[in-house]
Amino acid sequence: MKKPKLAVWKFSSCDGCQLSLLDCEDELLQVAGVVDIAYFLEATSKTVGGPYDVSLVEGSITTPHDAERILKVRKQSKALITIGACATAGGIQALRNFADVDDFVSIVYASPDYISTLATSTAIADHVPVDFELRGCPIDKHQLLEVVTAYLHGRRPNVPGYSVCLECKRRGTTCVTVAHGTPCLGPVTQAGCGAICPAYARGCYGCFGPMESPNTPALAGWLQPLGMTEGELHRVFRTFNAASEAFLHESKRHDASGD
Ligand code: SF4
Ligand code: SF4
Repeated sequence: MKKPKLAVWKFSSCDGCQLSLLDCEDELLQVAGVVDIAYFLEATSKTVGGPYDVSLVEGSITTPHDAERILKVRKQSKALITIGACATAGGIQALRNFADVDDFVSIVYASPDYISTLATSTAIADHVPVDFELRGCPIDKHQLLEVVTAYLHGRRPNVPGYSVCLECKRRGTTCVTVAHGTPCLGPVTQAGCGAICPAYARGCYGCFGPMESPNTPALAGWLQPLGMTEGELHRVFRTFNAASEAFLHESKRHDASGD
């Protein structure tokens, strides 16, 4: 029987999420046994043409070329799954959305004339229909395997939309906010990482992005008495998922300039 074809595409990103797939090691061999890894330049330069049954897309849209290429990827893909904060929310590079990108280009590059870029970094779903968004910076490899397996079997992935707090409780981690007064975005951040940061006595900084029903104003109301200033509240929501709707809205509420 013909194996389903899997493709992995890179847009503007650091490659960390694609590396999560390579990091699957033993499981990757099993995946390779049931699917034809037809396009995955991070792993091999040998490619097989489309159409593809499942496409994993890493990275955000930051150039005119990206914007054209994602349309072609969508056309060739039966299911298109975005992986990571860059692809699902624009990534850390979406900080450009709050400034003038020409200022960055003139400061960073010796020859700005060679740079072709858009003024914004945007999620893949802002350009084409997306079948599933897998969060994280980087993504969790077990969740990735669950999503790929689910799509290969024609079912919905079992990826929870609840918060990191539940994962702390499950692993028996004492709440860093309650016990030590450490500011933590866990109550509004989607689970998936296994609550790694609180397990090492530090607050979550929201790399998995907003959970399904994040009450960010209520959390901000708890963080202020812990000593966070308006400027700090503004910045804490402006990281890897700065352009996600809930974090964007909350960061604006704490910005004197309204940006
Ligand atoms: S989401 Fe994070 S780890 Fe993944 S490609 Fe973007 S910056 Fe890298
Ligand atoms: S605890 Fe928060 S910041 Fe740390 S890995 Fe998990 S989601 Fe990311």
